[in-house]
Amino acid sequence: HATKKTMADHLRKYETLFTLTPQRMRIIVESFKETLELGLQKPEQIVPMIPTFVFGWPTGQEKGDYLAVDLGGTNLRVCLVTLQGEGKFEISQSKYRLTEEQKQEDGQKLFDFCAQCLKTFVDTSLADGSLSLKSGETLPLGFTFSYPCYQSRIDHGILIRWTKGFGALNTEGHDVAEMFRTSLAKYELPVTLTALINDTTGTLIASHYVNPNAKIAVIFGTGCNAAYMEKVSEITKINDLGIPGDEMMGINCEWGAFDSFEHEHLPRTKYDIIVDETSNKPGEQAFEKLISGRYLGEILRLVICELIDEGVLFLGQNTYKLENPYVFDTAFLSLMESDPTDELLMIIGIFSHFFAVETTLAERQFFRALAKLIGRRAARLSSCGIAAIVGRMGYLDNGERCDVGADGSLYNKYPGFADRVHEGLVDIFGEKGRKIVTHRAEDGSGVGSAIIAAMTKTRK
Ligand code: ADP
Repeated sequence: HATKKTMADHLRKYETLFTLTPQRMRIIVESFKETLELGLQKPEQIVPMIPTFVFGWPTGQEKGDYLAVDLGGTNLRVCLVTLQGEGKFEISQSKYRLTEEQKQEDGQKLFDFCAQCLKTFVDTSLADGSLSLKSGETLPLGFTFSYPCYQSRIDHGILIRWTKGFGALNTEGHDVAEMFRTSLAKYELPVTLTALINDTTGTLIASHYVNPNAKIAVIFGTGCNAAYMEKVSEITKINDLGIPGDEMMGINCEWGAFDSFEHEHLPRTKYDIIVDETSNKPGEQAFEKLISGRYLGEILRLVICELIDEGVLFLGQNTYKLENPYVFDTAFLSLMESDPTDELLMIIGIFSHFFAVETTLAERQFFRALAKLIGRRAARLSSCGIAAIVGRMGYLDNGERCDVGADGSLYNKYPGFADRVHEGLVDIFGEKGRKIVTHRAEDGSGVGSAIIAAMTKTRK
C-alpha cells in the first residue's frame, strides 16, 4: 500500500522533466549552429534562414513620414511613423482585434480588413491634422507580415506557411504583398507598399537605429523568432543573384521551426507532444511550441489535467472549465510567479475566478513552482538560439559586447524572463556570456518597418 504523495513529491517529477542542464544546452547550441548554416546554404530547409533583402544597417539619419501595417498575431496594428534622424522618431497608432474567423477564412478577405482599418486610420489622421498629403501624393507603406515568406525583392513575398494559429485559405503559396496591394487598391488608399518585412527584421533594424551595439533581434510573443545581419557571401543559396559578397543582409531565421518533424534535438515532454499533436500544424514550429506565449499556458494546463485525471488535484470539484484547450493563458503564469503574498492570494483568485475551483496552499505552491519550471525552460531554450547566432558570428571574440533587441509580451511582461535568458547564456559561454545583454527593443513592426521603407527608398 503506497503512502500518499505530497505536492512536493509530484513537483520533483516535473523538475526532472523540465530542467535543462548547461551540458544539454551546449549540445543544443551545436546542432542549432549546424541548422542555421544549412539554412544559409540550401533552399527549403526546416529553418529557412530567409534573406530579407534589407541591406546593411540604417545610418540613423533616415527621415520622413511612413505608414506601417502590422499583421502579427493577436492584433492588427496601423502606425504613422515620423523619422526625425539622429536615431529619433515619433509614432501614432491604432490597434484592431482580429477574430478567429478572420484568421481562418479567406485570405483576401483578411487583407481587405487590413486595408479597411488602414483607411479608417488614414482618414482620421488626415482629419485631425496629424497627417497631411498633397494632391496625388502617396505615402510609402511598410507591411509587417510576421509569417515566413520567401522573398526575392523587398516588396514581394510568397507565404511559405501560416504559423501562430493562423490558417486563412488561399494564401499559402501566394504573394501576400500583391494580395494586399489588391486590397489597398479596392479602398483607393493613397499609399505605395514599398517593403514587406517580418517583425523580427523590423526589430533588428529599429534596435540598431537607436543602439548601434544591437546585432540580434528576438521576438517572444505569440510566436518566437530571431533575425541578425549576415554576410552575403555566407548566404550561398543566393549566390546566383550576383549581389556583392561583402554586402550585409538581414536574415529572418524563422528559428521557431528548429527541430520540426525530426524532433531529435530538443527535449520534449509528453505535454509538449500533446500540444504539438493537437495543434493545427502538428510537427511544425517545434522550437516555438516550447517557448512562445501561445503555448506555455497550455503546457501548464496539460500537467494540471494529468493530475486531475490521476485524482491528485481538485478531488470532488467540478473541473470542466480547466478542461478546454488554451483556456490557461500564459499571462496567468506571469501572475502566478509574481504573486507577492505568502498565502498566494493571486493564485487563489485565478483558480476560483476563472476556473471555479478551490485550491490548497500546497497546490498553489506547486502551481507557482510549475510555472517557474516551464517559464525557465522557455528562457533557457531561447538562450540556446541566441548562443547559436552569437557563436556563428563570433560576436564574443575580441571581448566585444553583443546587445540583443527583444520584444513581445513574454519578454516584456513575464517576471524574470530576461534574467533567465542571461543566466542561460552564462551557463553556455561561462563568464563571457555576460557580454550578451538583451534590451527591450524599439517597436520593430512599426518603427522598423518605417526605417526599412526609408532605407529602400535611398537604395533605389
Ligand atoms: P504578438 O506576438 O501576437 O504580436 P504579443 O507580443 O503581445 O503579441 O504576444 C502575445 C502572447 O503573449 C500571447 O500568447 C499571450 O498569452 C502572451 N502574454 C500576454 N500577456 C502576458 C503576460 N503578462 N505574461 C506572459 N505572457 C503574456
